Amino acid sequence: MFAGQFAGYWRDGKRVVLDRNAILPDRCIKCNEAANAYRRMVKLSYVPTSRELMFGAWAYLSAKRAQIEIGLCERHRRSRAVTVALGSLAVILASMIVFTQVRATDITLPLLATAGLIGGVSGLVYAAVGGRLVRAAKITDTHIWLKGAGEPFLASLPSAPAVGADGALPTLAGTTAIPVTPADSAAQAFRDARNGALLFLVGCLVTAGTYVLLPGNYFIAWGAVLFGLVRLVGALRSYVRVPAEHRTSGQVLALAGIVAVGVVSGGWVAIDQVQSSQFDAAVNTAAKNHTQGATLFVEVANRAGPWTAQDATDMRKVASLYGQAADTLAASQAPASYTWYRDGLVRNFREAADIATQLSGLTSASSQSAFDALFARWTARVNDLKQLQVRLDAQ
Ligand SMILES: [Zn+2]
Repeated sequence: MFAGQFAGYWRDGKRVVLDRNAILPDRCIKCNEAANAYRRMVKLSYVPTSRELMFGAWAYLSAKRAQIEIGLCERHRRSRAVTVALGSLAVILASMIVFTQVRATDITLPLLATAGLIGGVSGLVYAAVGGRLVRAAKITDTHIWLKGAGEPFLASLPSAPAVGADGALPTLAGTTAIPVTPADSAAQAFRDARNGALLFLVGCLVTAGTYVLLPGNYFIAWGAVLFGLVRLVGALRSYVRVPAEHRTSGQVLALAGIVAVGVVSGGWVAIDQVQSSQFDAAVNTAAKNHTQGATLFVEVANRAGPWTAQDATDMRKVASLYGQAADTLAASQAPASYTWYRDGLVRNFREAADIATQLSGLTSASSQSAFDALFARWTARVNDLKQLQVRLDAQ
Protein backbone atom coordinates (compact mmCIF):
# COMPACT_ATOMS: atom_id res chain seq x y z
CA MET A 1 0.00 0.00 0.00
CA PHE A 2 3.05 2.28 0.34
CA ALA A 3 4.71 1.06 -2.83
CA GLY A 4 6.14 3.87 -4.92
CA GLN A 5 5.58 6.44 -2.18
CA PHE A 6 6.97 4.98 1.02
CA ALA A 7 10.69 5.74 1.43
CA GLY A 8 11.05 3.63 4.59
CA TYR A 9 11.78 6.52 7.01
CA TRP A 10 9.81 9.24 8.76
CA ARG A 11 9.91 11.73 11.58
CA ASP A 12 8.66 10.82 15.07
CA GLY A 13 9.16 13.87 17.29
CA LYS A 14 12.91 14.35 17.72
CA ARG A 15 13.60 10.90 16.33
CA VAL A 16 14.05 9.43 12.90
CA VAL A 17 12.26 6.10 12.46
CA LEU A 18 13.58 4.02 9.62
CA ASP A 19 13.15 0.61 8.16
CA ARG A 20 16.33 -1.45 8.65
CA ASN A 21 16.76 -1.52 4.87
CA ALA A 22 15.84 2.11 4.21
CA ILE A 23 18.36 4.42 2.54
CA LEU A 24 18.40 7.86 4.13
CA PRO A 25 18.44 10.89 1.78
CA ASP A 26 21.70 12.30 0.47
CA ARG A 27 21.66 15.16 2.94
CA CYS A 28 23.50 15.95 6.18
CA ILE A 29 21.68 14.29 9.11
CA LYS A 30 22.64 17.28 11.29
CA CYS A 31 22.02 20.39 9.16
CA ASN A 32 20.27 19.04 6.06
CA GLU A 33 22.90 20.52 3.70
CA ALA A 34 23.85 18.49 0.65
CA ALA A 35 25.98 15.46 1.56
CA ASN A 36 27.19 15.05 -2.04
CA ALA A 37 26.96 11.25 -1.88
CA TYR A 38 29.15 11.10 1.24
CA ARG A 39 27.96 8.25 3.48
CA ARG A 40 29.24 7.23 6.87
CA MET A 41 28.63 3.77 8.28
CA VAL A 42 27.25 3.85 11.84
CA LYS A 43 26.98 0.81 14.08
CA LEU A 44 24.08 0.93 16.50
CA SER A 45 23.21 -1.19 19.50
CA TYR A 46 20.25 -1.04 21.82
CA VAL A 47 19.50 -2.58 25.22
CA PRO A 48 16.29 -1.83 27.16
CA THR A 49 17.19 0.31 30.18
CA SER A 50 15.57 -2.13 32.62
CA ARG A 51 17.81 -4.94 31.38
CA GLU A 52 20.88 -2.73 31.49
CA LEU A 53 20.11 -1.75 35.10
CA MET A 54 19.68 -5.35 36.11
CA PHE A 55 22.61 -6.93 34.33
CA GLY A 56 25.05 -4.07 33.66
CA ALA A 57 27.49 -4.49 30.82
CA TRP A 58 26.51 -8.16 30.46
CA ALA A 59 23.19 -7.04 28.93
CA TYR A 60 25.06 -5.85 25.84
CA LEU A 61 25.74 -9.47 24.92
CA SER A 62 22.11 -9.67 23.85
CA ALA A 63 21.84 -6.14 22.45
CA LYS A 64 19.86 -5.56 19.28
CA ARG A 65 22.32 -4.39 16.66
CA ALA A 66 21.99 -2.60 13.36
CA GLN A 67 24.16 -0.85 10.80
CA ILE A 68 23.04 2.16 8.84
CA GLU A 69 24.63 4.74 6.59
CA ILE A 70 24.07 8.43 7.25
CA GLY A 71 24.82 11.39 5.02
CA LEU A 72 27.02 14.23 6.33
CA CYS A 73 27.90 17.63 4.90
CA GLU A 74 31.54 18.67 4.68
CA ARG A 75 31.36 20.67 7.91
CA HIS A 76 29.89 17.81 9.91
CA ARG A 77 32.28 15.20 8.55
CA ARG A 78 35.10 16.50 10.72
CA SER A 79 34.57 14.52 13.85
CA ARG A 80 33.98 16.69 16.88
CA ALA A 81 34.93 13.72 19.06
CA VAL A 82 38.54 13.76 17.83
CA THR A 83 38.88 17.50 18.52
CA VAL A 84 37.44 17.07 22.02
CA ALA A 85 39.69 14.06 22.72
CA LEU A 86 42.86 15.87 21.60
CA GLY A 87 41.92 18.95 23.66
CA SER A 88 41.24 16.79 26.73
CA LEU A 89 44.58 14.98 26.39
CA ALA A 90 46.37 18.36 26.23
CA VAL A 91 44.60 19.49 29.42
CA ILE A 92 45.53 16.23 31.21
CA LEU A 93 49.17 16.56 30.16
CA ALA A 94 49.30 20.19 31.31
CA SER A 95 47.76 19.22 34.70
CA MET A 96 50.39 16.52 35.17
CA ILE A 97 53.22 18.92 34.41
CA VAL A 98 51.80 21.34 37.01
CA PHE A 99 51.60 18.51 39.58
CA THR A 100 55.27 17.62 39.14
CA GLN A 101 56.45 21.26 39.29
CA VAL A 102 54.59 22.77 42.27
CA ARG A 103 55.72 22.79 45.88
CA ALA A 104 53.46 21.18 48.46
CA THR A 105 52.84 24.52 50.20
CA ASP A 106 51.34 26.08 47.11
CA ILE A 107 47.58 25.51 47.12
CA THR A 108 46.18 27.29 44.06
CA LEU A 109 48.09 25.47 41.36
CA PRO A 110 47.34 21.90 42.58
CA LEU A 111 43.65 22.87 42.80
CA LEU A 112 43.73 24.17 39.23
CA ALA A 113 45.60 21.07 38.10
CA THR A 114 43.06 18.80 39.81
CA ALA A 115 40.19 20.68 38.16
CA GLY A 116 42.02 20.40 34.83
CA LEU A 117 42.55 16.67 35.30
CA ILE A 118 38.87 16.06 36.11
CA GLY A 119 37.85 18.23 33.16
CA GLY A 120 40.25 16.41 30.86
CA VAL A 121 38.98 12.97 31.87
CA SER A 122 35.34 14.11 31.49
CA GLY A 123 36.25 15.41 28.05
CA LEU A 124 37.71 12.02 27.08
CA VAL A 125 34.58 10.25 28.33
CA TYR A 126 32.41 12.69 26.40
CA ALA A 127 34.49 12.16 23.27
CA ALA A 128 34.08 8.39 23.62
CA VAL A 129 30.37 8.31 24.54
CA GLY A 130 28.64 11.62 23.91
CA GLY A 131 30.52 12.44 20.75
CA ARG A 132 28.67 9.86 18.71
CA LEU A 133 26.74 11.39 15.84
CA VAL A 134 23.57 9.37 16.29
CA ARG A 135 22.38 6.73 18.74
CA ALA A 136 19.63 4.15 18.69
CA ALA A 137 16.69 4.89 20.98
CA LYS A 138 15.18 1.54 20.06
CA ILE A 139 15.82 -1.27 17.60
CA THR A 140 13.39 -3.97 16.56
CA ASP A 141 13.72 -6.73 13.98
CA THR A 142 12.37 -4.37 11.34
CA HIS A 143 12.85 -0.77 12.51
CA ILE A 144 15.33 1.61 14.11
CA TRP A 145 14.55 4.73 16.19
CA LEU A 146 17.42 7.17 15.82
CA LYS A 147 18.38 9.96 18.24
CA GLY A 148 20.76 12.78 17.34
CA ALA A 149 19.45 14.02 14.00
CA GLY A 150 19.38 17.83 13.62
CA GLU A 151 16.10 19.77 13.48
CA PRO A 152 16.59 20.93 9.83
CA PHE A 153 17.00 17.29 8.76
CA LEU A 154 14.01 16.16 10.88
CA ALA A 155 11.87 18.94 9.37
CA SER A 156 12.62 17.64 5.87
CA LEU A 157 11.34 14.14 6.65
CA PRO A 158 7.84 12.87 5.91
CA SER A 159 5.56 12.53 8.92
CA ALA A 160 4.63 9.16 10.38
CA PRO A 161 2.75 6.88 7.98
CA ALA A 162 -0.50 5.17 8.84
CA VAL A 163 -0.08 2.14 11.04
CA GLY A 164 -1.48 -1.15 9.77
CA ALA A 165 -4.61 -2.66 11.27
CA ASP A 166 -2.48 -5.08 13.33
CA GLY A 167 -0.49 -2.16 14.79
CA ALA A 168 2.57 -3.08 12.75
CA LEU A 169 4.72 -0.28 11.37
CA PRO A 170 5.00 -0.18 7.59
CA THR A 171 8.09 -1.76 6.13
CA LEU A 172 9.85 -1.79 2.81
CA ALA A 173 9.21 -4.80 0.62
CA GLY A 174 11.32 -7.73 1.77
CA THR A 175 12.22 -6.42 5.24
CA THR A 176 9.87 -8.56 7.30
CA ALA A 177 8.72 -12.10 7.41
CA ILE A 178 11.96 -13.82 6.49
CA PRO A 179 10.78 -17.43 6.58
CA VAL A 180 12.53 -19.36 9.35
CA THR A 181 12.91 -23.13 9.00
CA PRO A 182 12.49 -25.35 12.07
CA ALA A 183 16.15 -26.39 11.72
CA ASP A 184 17.18 -22.72 11.77
CA SER A 185 15.14 -21.90 14.84
CA ALA A 186 16.40 -25.07 16.58
CA ALA A 187 19.99 -24.05 15.86
CA GLN A 188 19.29 -20.51 17.06
CA ALA A 189 17.62 -21.74 20.26
CA PHE A 190 20.59 -24.03 20.92
CA ARG A 191 23.08 -21.20 20.36
CA ASP A 192 21.12 -18.94 22.73
CA ALA A 193 20.92 -21.66 25.37
CA ARG A 194 24.62 -22.47 24.98
CA ASN A 195 25.62 -18.79 25.29
CA GLY A 196 23.47 -18.46 28.41
CA ALA A 197 25.03 -21.61 29.87
CA LEU A 198 28.55 -20.36 29.07
CA LEU A 199 27.85 -17.02 30.71
CA PHE A 200 26.50 -18.81 33.78
CA LEU A 201 29.65 -20.95 33.82
CA VAL A 202 31.95 -17.93 33.51
CA GLY A 203 30.13 -16.24 36.41
CA CYS A 204 30.49 -19.34 38.59
CA LEU A 205 34.17 -19.79 37.67
CA VAL A 206 34.99 -16.13 38.39
CA THR A 207 33.25 -16.51 41.75
CA ALA A 208 35.10 -19.75 42.58
CA GLY A 209 38.43 -18.38 41.31
CA THR A 210 38.31 -15.23 43.40
CA TYR A 211 37.04 -17.26 46.38
CA VAL A 212 40.23 -19.35 46.22
CA LEU A 213 42.58 -16.46 45.45
CA LEU A 214 41.03 -13.79 47.71
CA PRO A 215 39.68 -15.69 50.72
CA GLY A 216 37.15 -13.71 52.71
CA ASN A 217 37.04 -10.99 50.09
CA TYR A 218 35.74 -12.67 46.99
CA PHE A 219 33.72 -11.28 44.15
CA ILE A 220 30.47 -12.88 43.08
CA ALA A 221 29.94 -12.35 39.37
CA TRP A 222 26.21 -12.00 40.01
CA GLY A 223 25.52 -10.20 36.75
CA ALA A 224 26.95 -13.04 34.69
CA VAL A 225 25.44 -15.83 36.81
CA LEU A 226 21.95 -14.29 36.82
CA PHE A 227 21.91 -13.10 33.24
CA GLY A 228 23.34 -16.42 32.03
CA LEU A 229 20.58 -18.29 33.87
CA VAL A 230 17.84 -16.01 32.55
CA ARG A 231 19.09 -16.43 28.99
CA LEU A 232 19.51 -20.17 29.42
CA VAL A 233 16.00 -20.68 30.78
CA GLY A 234 14.46 -18.44 28.10
CA ALA A 235 16.33 -20.21 25.29
CA LEU A 236 15.58 -23.68 26.71
CA ARG A 237 11.87 -22.90 26.56
CA SER A 238 12.11 -22.31 22.82
CA TYR A 239 14.53 -25.21 22.43
CA VAL A 240 12.14 -27.79 23.90
CA ARG A 241 9.41 -26.52 21.55
CA VAL A 242 11.34 -27.24 18.33
CA PRO A 243 10.56 -30.56 16.65
CA ALA A 244 12.46 -33.38 18.34
CA GLU A 245 14.33 -34.40 15.18
CA HIS A 246 16.17 -31.06 15.25
CA ARG A 247 17.48 -31.61 18.75
CA THR A 248 20.59 -33.77 19.00
CA SER A 249 21.87 -35.64 22.02
CA GLY A 250 25.22 -33.92 21.47
CA GLN A 251 23.59 -30.53 22.01
CA VAL A 252 21.77 -31.69 25.13
CA LEU A 253 24.98 -33.21 26.53
CA ALA A 254 26.94 -30.02 25.80
CA LEU A 255 24.37 -27.89 27.65
CA ALA A 256 24.17 -30.29 30.58
CA GLY A 257 27.98 -30.44 30.77
CA ILE A 258 28.46 -26.67 30.81
CA VAL A 259 25.74 -26.18 33.43
CA ALA A 260 27.11 -29.06 35.55
CA VAL A 261 30.62 -27.54 35.72
CA GLY A 262 29.07 -24.20 36.66
CA VAL A 263 26.88 -25.75 39.35
CA VAL A 264 29.83 -27.70 40.78
CA SER A 265 32.12 -24.67 41.00
CA GLY A 266 29.37 -22.31 42.21
CA GLY A 267 27.95 -24.96 44.54
CA TRP A 268 31.36 -25.64 46.00
CA VAL A 269 31.68 -21.97 46.99
CA ALA A 270 28.18 -22.03 48.52
CA ILE A 271 28.86 -25.24 50.49
CA ASP A 272 32.24 -23.95 51.65
CA GLN A 273 30.57 -20.73 52.77
CA VAL A 274 27.87 -22.60 54.72
CA GLN A 275 30.53 -24.81 56.31
CA SER A 276 32.58 -21.77 57.35
CA SER A 277 29.60 -20.12 59.01
CA GLN A 278 28.67 -23.35 60.83
CA PHE A 279 32.29 -23.76 61.89
CA ASP A 280 32.37 -20.14 63.10
CA ALA A 281 29.30 -20.84 65.25
CA ALA A 282 30.94 -23.98 66.71
CA VAL A 283 34.16 -22.07 67.48
CA ASN A 284 32.13 -19.34 69.24
CA THR A 285 30.25 -21.86 71.39
CA ALA A 286 33.50 -23.67 72.26
CA ALA A 287 35.18 -20.34 73.06
CA LYS A 288 32.47 -19.53 75.64
CA ASN A 289 32.99 -22.89 77.42
CA HIS A 290 36.75 -22.40 77.21
CA THR A 291 36.57 -18.90 78.79
CA GLN A 292 34.33 -20.13 81.65
CA GLY A 293 36.57 -23.16 82.23
CA ALA A 294 39.80 -21.15 82.18
CA THR A 295 38.36 -18.50 84.55
CA LEU A 296 37.21 -21.12 87.05
CA PHE A 297 40.54 -22.98 86.80
CA VAL A 298 42.58 -19.84 87.60
CA GLU A 299 40.22 -19.02 90.48
CA VAL A 300 40.69 -22.49 92.05
CA ALA A 301 44.46 -22.47 91.46
CA ASN A 302 44.78 -19.12 93.26
CA ARG A 303 42.83 -20.20 96.34
CA ALA A 304 45.02 -20.24 99.46
CA GLY A 305 45.21 -23.17 101.83
CA PRO A 306 45.02 -26.93 101.34
CA TRP A 307 43.11 -28.67 98.50
CA THR A 308 39.46 -28.94 99.52
CA ALA A 309 36.45 -30.95 98.37
CA GLN A 310 35.07 -27.70 96.87
CA ASP A 311 38.25 -27.37 94.79
CA ALA A 312 37.76 -30.92 93.50
CA THR A 313 34.10 -30.23 92.65
CA ASP A 314 35.05 -27.04 90.76
CA MET A 315 37.71 -28.95 88.81
CA ARG A 316 35.00 -31.42 87.69
CA LYS A 317 33.09 -28.39 86.37
CA VAL A 318 36.21 -27.21 84.51
CA ALA A 319 36.64 -30.70 83.02
CA SER A 320 33.00 -30.74 81.94
CA LEU A 321 33.22 -27.28 80.28
CA TYR A 322 36.34 -28.27 78.31
CA GLY A 323 34.77 -31.60 77.42
CA GLN A 324 31.75 -29.78 75.96
CA ALA A 325 34.01 -27.40 74.01
CA ALA A 326 35.94 -30.34 72.52
CA ASP A 327 32.74 -32.25 71.65
CA THR A 328 31.18 -29.20 69.93
CA LEU A 329 34.27 -28.67 67.78
CA ALA A 330 34.78 -32.36 67.01
CA ALA A 331 31.21 -32.55 65.67
CA SER A 332 31.61 -29.43 63.46
CA GLN A 333 32.49 -29.44 59.75
CA ALA A 334 35.52 -27.21 59.28
CA PRO A 335 36.37 -25.93 55.79
CA ALA A 336 39.31 -27.89 54.37
CA SER A 337 41.82 -25.13 55.12
CA TYR A 338 40.78 -25.00 58.80
CA THR A 339 40.72 -28.68 59.77
CA TRP A 340 44.21 -28.37 61.35
CA TYR A 341 42.86 -25.59 63.58
CA ARG A 342 39.77 -27.54 64.62
CA ASP A 343 41.79 -30.71 65.32
CA GLY A 344 44.34 -28.69 67.30
CA LEU A 345 41.59 -27.10 69.42
CA VAL A 346 39.89 -30.47 70.04
CA ARG A 347 43.20 -32.02 71.20
CA ASN A 348 43.97 -29.00 73.39
CA PHE A 349 40.52 -28.93 75.05
CA ARG A 350 40.58 -32.71 75.65
CA GLU A 351 43.96 -32.28 77.35
CA ALA A 352 42.45 -29.50 79.53
CA ALA A 353 39.51 -31.76 80.43
CA ASP A 354 41.92 -34.59 81.29
CA ILE A 355 44.11 -32.38 83.53
CA ALA A 356 41.06 -30.97 85.35
CA THR A 357 39.62 -34.49 85.83
CA GLN A 358 42.89 -35.69 87.38
CA LEU A 359 43.03 -32.60 89.64
CA SER A 360 39.46 -33.31 90.80
CA GLY A 361 40.70 -36.76 91.91
CA LEU A 362 43.41 -35.29 94.16
CA THR A 363 42.94 -34.56 97.89
CA SER A 364 44.81 -32.56 100.52
CA ALA A 365 46.71 -35.79 101.19
CA SER A 366 48.11 -35.96 97.64
CA SER A 367 51.79 -35.16 97.15
CA GLN A 368 52.84 -31.66 96.06
CA SER A 369 54.67 -33.20 93.07
CA ALA A 370 51.35 -34.62 91.77
CA PHE A 371 49.87 -31.08 91.83
CA ASP A 372 53.04 -29.57 90.29
CA ALA A 373 53.06 -32.07 87.42
CA LEU A 374 49.42 -31.35 86.53
CA PHE A 375 49.86 -27.56 86.75
CA ALA A 376 52.96 -27.86 84.51
CA ARG A 377 50.86 -29.78 81.94
CA TRP A 378 48.25 -27.01 82.14
CA THR A 379 50.88 -24.32 81.44
CA ALA A 380 52.21 -26.31 78.45
CA ARG A 381 48.65 -26.68 77.15
CA VAL A 382 48.00 -22.91 77.43
CA ASN A 383 51.21 -22.30 75.42
CA ASP A 384 50.11 -24.77 72.74
CA LEU A 385 46.80 -22.93 72.47
CA LYS A 386 48.66 -19.64 71.95
CA GLN A 387 50.69 -21.28 69.15
CA LEU A 388 47.46 -22.37 67.45
CA GLN A 389 46.14 -18.79 67.56
CA VAL A 390 49.41 -17.41 66.19
CA ARG A 391 49.28 -19.87 63.27
CA LEU A 392 45.60 -19.00 62.68
CA ASP A 393 46.31 -15.28 62.60
CA ALA A 394 49.11 -15.89 60.08
CA GLN A 395 46.77 -17.83 57.76
ZN1 LIG B 1 25.91 19.31 8.17
